[in-house]
Amino acid sequence: MRAIVIVGGGAAGLQLATRLARRLGKRGHAEIVLVDRSPTHLWKPLLHEVAAGRLEPVVHHTPFALQAARHGFRYVQGNLRAVDRINRTISVAPIGTGHGEDGQIQSIGYDKLVLAVGGVTQYFGVPGAREHALTLDSVSCAEQVRDRVFTALRRSRRPMPSRTRPRERSA
Ligand SMILES: Cc1cc2nc3c(=O)[nH]c(=O)nc-3n(C[C@H](O)[C@H](O)[C@H](O)COP(=O)(O)OP(=O)(O)OC[C@H]3O[C@@H](n4cnc5c(N)ncnc54)[C@H](O)[C@@H]3O)c2cc1C
Repeated sequence: MRAIVIVGGGAAGLQLATRLARRLGKRGHAEIVLVDRSPTHLWKPLLHEVAAGRLEPVVHHTPFALQAARHGFRYVQGNLRAVDRINRTISVAPIGTGHGEDGQIQSIGYDKLVLAVGGVTQYFGVPGAREHALTLDSVSCAEQVRDRVFTALRRSRRPMPSRTRPRERSA
């Protein structure tokens, strides 16, 4: 059976994996594999709401494993490390372990490969930007913005935004 491997379960990759699984996977025409380093998908245009403290990611995210079970594709959590186009395989490192440490790099074969890993913030060489700017590239970036703003508000003793007061954090 053909293997279609999609790396990146963002707006593009998750939709593609779901549709291909419905059309080809369920009929046994192809095995659909989705690889993402995160366990969940949150639609990026919601990140500013996370940053503003108006949205809890855990309420609105889609767990990849659940989506995979519902629609019939295979989900592999890991970080894409390399693509071997000659042998048609990708190398995927497990999350939370370093290259060459205890984690085993997994090799996944493909007939068709889709790279849908999105983009990241560019700093265009602006001095200090990389070190000091906060970005909105991922849920953890958005949570960092939120926590920094709320910590600053707490320290200044100004009232928190009224719609969502985040649960008290120990920090
Ligand atoms: C705050 C914000 C607001 C936005 N608002 C809008 C809007 O209103 N309208 C609009 O059209 N667009 C908007 N966008 C842009 C839109 O979100 C992006 O164009 C879209 O998410 C791109 O989809 P994608 O699937 O290409 O990548 P992404 O959604 O970025 O997904 C990439 C996926 O790849 C995974 N990944 C990355 N690298 C690896 C790796 N090495 N190994 C494994 N997995 C990996 C990531 O975990 C992620 O799940 C907004 C973006 C942001 C940040």
